[in-house]
Amino acid sequence: MKVQVNEDMCEGHGKCQNAAPAVFRLREDDVSEVIVDVVPAEEVERVERAIRLCPRQAIKWVSQT
Ligand code: SF4
Repeated sequence: MKVQVNEDMCEGHGKCQNAAPAVFRLREDDVSEVIVDVVPAEEVERVERAIRLCPRQAIKWVSQT
């Protein structure tokens, strides 16, 4: 699975990076970016947590196709 951050919605709270630092990174402009192409299986639970914690609902799973 791939995950995506909607940059227009992100407000840079960084909760995603705290929840899954191997997947999300807060850029210097305070927008989160996804730093992996495909989310490894062992990170899925952390990404789910990031999705729940994001106060802007800016994170979502996307299909690989
Ligand atoms: S938790 Fe949501 S709003 Fe905060 S940096 Fe991550 S994607 Fe952006």
